[in-house]
Amino acid sequence: MRSRFAIALGSNRRHVRFGSPEAIIRAALTRLDRKKVHVIAASRTVRSRPLGPSRRTYANAAALIETRFEPHRLLKRLKKIEREFGRRPGGSRWSARTLDLDILLWSRGSWASQGLVVPHREFRKRSFVLDPLATIAGEWRDPLSGLTVRQLKARLDRKRPAA
Ligand code: AMP
Repeated sequence: MRSRFAIALGSNRRHVRFGSPEAIIRAALTRLDRKKVHVIAASRTVRSRPLGPSRRTYANAAALIETRFEPHRLLKRLKKIEREFGRRPGGSRWSARTLDLDILLWSRGSWASQGLVVPHREFRKRSFVLDPLATIAGEWRDPLSGLTVRQLKARLDRKRPAA
């Protein structure tokens, strides 16, 4: 049985072959849409300032995926693609990353196994995740809070200091 996933894509460094973080994200979406994994929607790429001590600007996007894979199997695929794009295994948490892929939501609800928790633990607090996600999956309901992505974004926007 096929199910849907919402995933987050992030990049904050140039790639020798693909170029800018935006181009890396586009290339990653093309790479992802292969062999049993179908990208059915993708947001535009947005730029955001880094969360940690890294000084590089991030490019972020969200995508919806359809697949028969279970979450742990999809994560394996995502990690493989991260490696292909040059992420250093075991690199420090805030190191500059070529490509970061996270599973945000799953249409069958929650999942927890070693090394994987869905919904993603941090996604409700991150505007760089919720902003692009709301443009492609605003009505998707988070099984834990019971709020839609649009509502989660509105809640976060109220907390965010005015620019
Ligand atoms: P990070 O470096 O912060 O992106 O964390 C990556 C690690 O978090 C992965 O190796 C996963 O084992 C783990 N992880 C836990 N939950 C998730 C999730 N929902 N999506 C992606 N990675 C996850």
